[in-house]
Amino acid sequence: MKTDEKLFVKIIRKIVFISIILICILSIGVKASKSDVNYVTIVFPEGYETTVMTAKVKVSDILAENHMIVLPDEVVYPDIDSNIDFTKTITISKATDEKQVISEEIESVTTEEILGKYVKVTEKIVVEQVEIPYETITKDVSKEGTETKDKVLQEGVNGLKEIKYKVKYQDNQEIERNVISEVVIREPVNKIVQISTKLTSRAGNRSEKQSSSTLQASVEGMTPKVVKMNTSAYCSCARCTGKTNGITSSGAKAKEWYTIAAGSGYPIGTVIYIPALADKPNGGWFVVEDRGGAISNNRIDIYMNSHQSAILFGRRSLECYVYE
Ligand SMILES: [Zn+2]
Repeated sequence: MKTDEKLFVKIIRKIVFISIILICILSIGVKASKSDVNYVTIVFPEGYETTVMTAKVKVSDILAENHMIVLPDEVVYPDIDSNIDFTKTITISKATDEKQVISEEIESVTTEEILGKYVKVTEKIVVEQVEIPYETITKDVSKEGTETKDKVLQEGVNGLKEIKYKVKYQDNQEIERNVISEVVIREPVNKIVQISTKLTSRAGNRSEKQSSSTLQASVEGMTPKVVKMNTSAYCSCARCTGKTNGITSSGAKAKEWYTIAAGSGYPIGTVIYIPALADKPNGGWFVVEDRGGAISNNRIDIYMNSHQSAILFGRRSLECYVYE
């Protein structure tokens, strides 16, 4: 029968076709297994070794295939990510002391040092204007006797200079600053004060006049240091001093408008002239004879006979001429 013959031929063809494909697949498989299968020796840190059969060539694949895990303190040769070499041996060993030393050296480099190499250092030219403070110069005209009051002959004016810096920044933080140039834009104008130490007619009794004159005479020829001081007053009462005898730290009996208490920066006996108090009985002349608990170096306390006067004096910031 024609149709049966055709069907038979079709089946035979299919069988032949499938057989050829099967032969091909098998021959490739045999070829592959013959040429690509390797016997790889794995050497362990403990000293023993084993040989495995594998078709893989990458070290990590061979170890994984055999369920072998490399511990953090172990090293593998050849490298875990490379292929096995002609020796077909994988050696797992403990990290040696030598390698540990190297890693310690690396750790000893601080994070800042490492970052320092990578953080960009930028340089900028910075121009700043800075004030030059004026100085106060005193001019003693007391001997001429023509003036009876102190006066400011010239007001002081601060000067101005322009400073050019080369500034280095690292991560926006200033790390270095060097002056490149300094140019004075405006010179400061010194303050000149004429000091007339002559006693005014408003000076008090004779003995006070004498003591003030004595103080004045004791500093003749000396150039005073001009400082602004917080000035207040005190009396001999318990509220002011904690004692009532009026005896000062220097041992002298405190005198009104004469004795002052000052900080340890001013030795006992230091003469201080306060122009703003020139109309007082002492003509503005005081001497450091006392100390006080609350007295610091920029504060002085003037002795008064009554607590009322001390309170009335209050607190004032006054220019003082210190004769040291
Ligand atoms: Zn008092």
